[in-house]
Amino acid sequence: MELHIETLPFSALPNADRKLCERALEVASRAYAPYSGFAVGVAVRTASGKVFVGANLENASYGLSICAEVAALTEANTHGADDIETIAVVGYKYAPIFDHQAIVTPCGRCRQLIWEARCRARSDIKVICCNGDLTSAAVFSIAELLPAAFDVVALRQFDDHPPAETHPHSHPLKQRRVS
Ligand SMILES: [Zn+2]
Repeated sequence: MELHIETLPFSALPNADRKLCERALEVASRAYAPYSGFAVGVAVRTASGKVFVGANLENASYGLSICAEVAALTEANTHGADDIETIAVVGYKYAPIFDHQAIVTPCGRCRQLIWEARCRARSDIKVICCNGDLTSAAVFSIAELLPAAFDVVALRQFDDHPPAETHPHSHPLKQRRVS
């Protein structure tokens, strides 16, 4: 199934959002992505107007690669910023060929991490996804990108149950007899 994304011209974005995307594109040039040849830059903006950025960081073991969103969210956290309201994501392929046509959206793991940032901020987060030459964009809320998300509210619905030790059926692992 082909993914359909509603796009708009980059020029239609508000000025502050265009600036945020430009920061994301700028930081994408610092991506360390020798294995995929795919550079991603992210810029997050807080309610108070602070901006934090990150680029993807790959690894020879592939699975340890760090997404640009993770880098930017970590940078924001390091500076005590818990009121993120907008995230700009810009990506493009630079090897073996240069291709900046497609709009890049956050991967599943990053959507979950952005959702957590939404919980901390207590307000929905705007996610602006752009192509690599900043000619087109798609704007989502994180709630749109991650419907029925798992979070602390979902986790706490289990808090009414007794702990495993006192549960009438006890924990299945504790029922095993060792001979
Ligand atoms: Zn990701």
